[in-house]
Amino acid sequence: MLLCVILLSATSALGALRMELPENAVNGRAFLVTVHSDSEFPVLLKWDARELMVNPVQDKDGYSAIALLSLPRDFSKKSVTVSAIEEHVSGTDTVTRAVPVKHKKYREQHLNVNRKYVELSKKNLDRHYGEQAVVKKMLSSLQVERMWDRGFLRPVNGGVSSEFGVQRFFNGKPRKPHSGIDLRGKTGTPIKACADGVVRIADDHFFSGNSIYIDHGQGVVSVYCHLSKFLVKEGEPVKKGQVIGKVGATGRVTGPHLHFTLKVAGVSVDPMPLFSEKN
Ligand SMILES: [Zn+2]
Repeated sequence: MLLCVILLSATSALGALRMELPENAVNGRAFLVTVHSDSEFPVLLKWDARELMVNPVQDKDGYSAIALLSLPRDFSKKSVTVSAIEEHVSGTDTVTRAVPVKHKKYREQHLNVNRKYVELSKKNLDRHYGEQAVVKKMLSSLQVERMWDRGFLRPVNGGVSSEFGVQRFFNGKPRKPHSGIDLRGKTGTPIKACADGVVRIADDHFFSGNSIYIDHGQGVVSVYCHLSKFLVKEGEPVKKGQVIGKVGATGRVTGPHLHFTLKVAGVSVDPMPLFSEKN
């Protein structure tokens, strides 16, 4: 998907700073930006009240960097304004461009469930808040350098049993929209890392069971939940395609599957358009 989009360019009035952007962006999805420059100074990308610093590297025409930006599932504006800002010794070079947004409507799912499965004890709630704090802290200290490359690997081959962004209602009450995808797989099915990175969390969490968080650098994090087995440890570097664990049914689930979340620049996005190959 990322490779086949029509690319439009925006060039600054004075310098050589230039951005390639897709024709459209979509709410709940990531989009690729390529920055071209004539120097290796860092470039600050700004969009939707967020920012990301990238470091251009030398290529055949000068210097360039790729980055994934993202729009939240509930982004409702007609376009998103993207700016690239480069500080030179002689001044600041800026390019700005508006990218039209195609609005995707995500499905709703209404379920009637026994109250005991919805309401949590104080002990379990406290445990959940403690785990959320650990995740939040990790997400605030990500690696700056990019370790991922275009084309992510689907972690298991099984079909999608629940897609990204589904808004679930339990007994009429809205829950958080589905932050990732559920992929079918029997207990014991090998799970592969979707890109190169470093394991930042490998631990048992209340809702998501045995969970692995991989930091791929430059704001990209992948999350694998409900595992029956860990095959990597916290702090360990991993390669794209490396088996990191096995599918299971740990945490609050009704059966074995892989819940997979991809976070890009602080928001969860639909990983499906980013997969370029099966594993
Ligand atoms: Zn899920």
